[in-house]
Amino acid sequence: MNAENPDTLEAEIRRRIALNGPLNLARYMSICLSHAEHGYYMSRDPLGALGDFTTAPEISQIFGELIGLWCAHIWQAMNTPRRLHLVELGPGRGTLMSDALRAIRSAAPRFMASLDVHLVETSPVLRQKQAQTLQTSGLDPFWHDKVGQIPPGPAIFIANEFFDALPIHQYQRSAKGWRERLVTARKGGGFAYGLSPLEAKESDLPPALLNAPEGSIAETSPAREAVLKTIAKRLSRQAGAALIIDYGHIKTAPGDTFQAVMKHEYATPLENPGKADLTSHVDFETLARIAHGNGAAAHGPITQGKFLTALGIEARARSLSGGADPETASEIAAAAKRLTSAEQMGDLFKVLCLTSPTPQPPPPFDLRTRNLAP
Ligand code: SAH
Repeated sequence: MNAENPDTLEAEIRRRIALNGPLNLARYMSICLSHAEHGYYMSRDPLGALGDFTTAPEISQIFGELIGLWCAHIWQAMNTPRRLHLVELGPGRGTLMSDALRAIRSAAPRFMASLDVHLVETSPVLRQKQAQTLQTSGLDPFWHDKVGQIPPGPAIFIANEFFDALPIHQYQRSAKGWRERLVTARKGGGFAYGLSPLEAKESDLPPALLNAPEGSIAETSPAREAVLKTIAKRLSRQAGAALIIDYGHIKTAPGDTFQAVMKHEYATPLENPGKADLTSHVDFETLARIAHGNGAAAHGPITQGKFLTALGIEARARSLSGGADPETASEIAAAAKRLTSAEQMGDLFKVLCLTSPTPQPPPPFDLRTRNLAP
């Protein structure tokens, strides 16, 4: 407990609660993740074996490579615009972008020559890491705080494990109706959940869950919806596509998915504020609905396993293993399996594609298996 030390995030949150009352989850999450000094993402590189969690691009280079080839395919389908913005949201260490650019350079040099790379990132530590990782790409990326700052023109957006990090609200159905879940300060230190004394507005709740039984929890994320709306509106007016990859559910469903991860283990979200990664599952049905509502086409979501298999992960793993020693070859195979197998990341992670309005969904969302690997 650090309630006594005035310099910790716990003390800062207690001060805010003492001043203005309990915080909703979105406020709590955004302080924990983005507080200028002690925010989780502001002060560290959370990725990899020594950090708190590992992501698909950190598991295998094939992940970023296949996404790069997918982008090259989209550029062709867009009739090879002379310039195109390749935008990544929350690029972590820059690994996905670096692997994508390497694959693009070798498979589609003309596409490479037409690219401007944009990274939407709030963390100064990770911006620095991204600059280092992308040094060898030969391209100078542009950094932005918000997706709305990307200059006009044809664009492809990539987001892997970005939407899960954006703040959510939770509502619980009590005997007296839906109430927002709040974070309160415990007397002796630490935090606990409480419920707002006010009934939630119906318009703040997911329409599909209004009649969920007593005790149900509903999650919403205006922050995610705002980012998605910005991208969808842009795609409705200017040519482009977006690929959103994350853990989550295909259909809106009740349930508490708010989670904390520290040193590769699940932790308690209200403990160690600012020291654990806080996320929740992404409601893909809501994202797809908002895309449609703002003039973009939404394709999928399909599972990550299906997506990577259709794009040719197995062939690429075999070709990478070709000249490798047996130990490396078995690591390559194990990494590919981790990304695709239903028991590991293959089913939990989903891929949603947005495009400018089109009669023809891009592969592999057209459900025909298309191998993009060379
Ligand atoms: N895409 C990377 C990293 C995922 S971690 C990978 O797959 O490895 C989440 C990333 O989103 C980090 O880079 C984090 O700093 C960034 N991020 C989190 N919240 C953000 C926000 N509100 N705006 C911009 N970037 C954010």
